[in-house]
Amino acid sequence: MQALVFVLFSCTVQLYFSQPTFSLDTYPKNPDINIISYDFYLKLHDVTDSIKGVAVLDIKTKDQPLAQFELDLINVNESLKGHGMHVDSVLISSPNTYSTKFLHKKNRLAIVLEEEIAANTYFSATVFYRGIPHDGLIISNNKFGDRTFFGDNWPNRARHWLPSIDHPYDKAFCTFSVETPIHYEVVASGTKIEESFTNNNSKITRWESQAPLATKLMVIGVAKFAVQHLAEVDHIPVQSWVFPENKVAGFYDYAMAPEILAFFNAKIGPFAYAKLANVQSKTRYGGMENASNIFYYENSVTGQRTIENLIAHEVAHQWFGDAVTEADWHHVWLSEGFATYFTNVYVEHKHGKDSMNRLLNKQKIQIAEYHKKAPTSSIIDLKVNKLTDLLNTNTYQKGAWVLHMLRYELGDELFFKGIKKYYQIFKNGNALTKDFQYVMEEVSGKSLDWFFEQWLYSPTLPSVKTAYKYNKRNKTLELTITQTQATKLFTYRLAVLFISDNEERVFKEFNIDKRENRFEISLKNKPDKIVSDPYNNLLLYVE
Ligand SMILES: [Zn+2]
Repeated sequence: MQALVFVLFSCTVQLYFSQPTFSLDTYPKNPDINIISYDFYLKLHDVTDSIKGVAVLDIKTKDQPLAQFELDLINVNESLKGHGMHVDSVLISSPNTYSTKFLHKKNRLAIVLEEEIAANTYFSATVFYRGIPHDGLIISNNKFGDRTFFGDNWPNRARHWLPSIDHPYDKAFCTFSVETPIHYEVVASGTKIEESFTNNNSKITRWESQAPLATKLMVIGVAKFAVQHLAEVDHIPVQSWVFPENKVAGFYDYAMAPEILAFFNAKIGPFAYAKLANVQSKTRYGGMENASNIFYYENSVTGQRTIENLIAHEVAHQWFGDAVTEADWHHVWLSEGFATYFTNVYVEHKHGKDSMNRLLNKQKIQIAEYHKKAPTSSIIDLKVNKLTDLLNTNTYQKGAWVLHMLRYELGDELFFKGIKKYYQIFKNGNALTKDFQYVMEEVSGKSLDWFFEQWLYSPTLPSVKTAYKYNKRNKTLELTITQTQATKLFTYRLAVLFISDNEERVFKEFNIDKRENRFEISLKNKPDKIVSDPYNNLLLYVE
């Protein structure tokens, strides 16, 4: 996602029944079940913010028999002004259908089974619930005064309105059947498979996702919309959904999407979803990469095409973050660093290398500024407890720079070959950083431990100073390249450009791995100027 302004949001303190089992983050992953699909029915009203929900979860047990399991669902709570969800009943089908006991407290719904379910067995659980969502499903008026409903789940706010395993590690298929008064249009993940008017002035709209999704990306958008079926890109329908008052400007702005989609489709691999909708919404973020329907903030529509980079960022997320999802929150750079870098790559393709370099330089400055504020923070930073704190300059801009440096290290051909392979292997699944490293090592035949360690796990930023002495008689140059950061030595290949009085330009690369690195090279003319890293390949601060 892209922050609207870089304000970090406070997050609800979660109290869990059980302790973390095997994860690095504190979410109590459930090793005993796998959610295969969610089928949500939701009834929305004009006269009340209270929603009624029925969630049918198809579940498979893993290697152990199952006696009970837990889902996330925010319960009705005084501290939420009486908002939250109340569960009326839970049905189990395995295969006999029976109403079962449950305990709903501390925002966890513990479902107790009457009979143990055998290992490796499919069963379903149906949760009947209702209440006013305190968050997650944002019920409010848009800037034109019209009532709207927008899912806004990142990172773990689906649990405010959807009983679920609300963590990206357990992806599942999802279907939304949304019953609304007839004047609403409904957009959701996947393909629209039904729109039926009922006999009580309401209608049911049903959308189905044919690919498994993380709960952070499962949403509905319900509003009065103007809808444009804009284009088909490699058989993928691209649509714009904007508020009717913004129709002309919105259709114009969002029409930048097909070109971006086509570029990433060719560059990374086939798009994972049935459509791409760009939706004007009430998301708290600048843009939120919900799978197959990106939600943008409502003032994203200007009629001036001011959000090309934002669209590129969110579309890039459909590959990275959505189709390939981090298995653990601390690896969120696999979403944000990738989306940031692939925006750079799109800008390079569309507007040229200089434009990409301007972005890289800006990002380099942002990284240095952030480092001053948080000198011990790295991209993969296990010290971070609050999920919203993971959205920072390290996971976005520095993550992007890591990919840029990896591209330099491997060369364009191997880098993009590796990216394609990583996408192909982990598409519709989950990955950790080591999975990405493994693919890039396999494709390049190089060990990259040193690279990932120094750039992703270490907080240090390298800086460098060069000095030289030219010997006219021998026509040689003694070059000293000194790493000047206080701690930690880095390994990298530094390009240096020697420019002499008569405009002669000589380009050489040097392997740097010590504090002080000395080289002697032959050079016809005394250089007037030397430029370290002239092509902006390293996140290196030249003194
Ligand atoms: Zn993002």
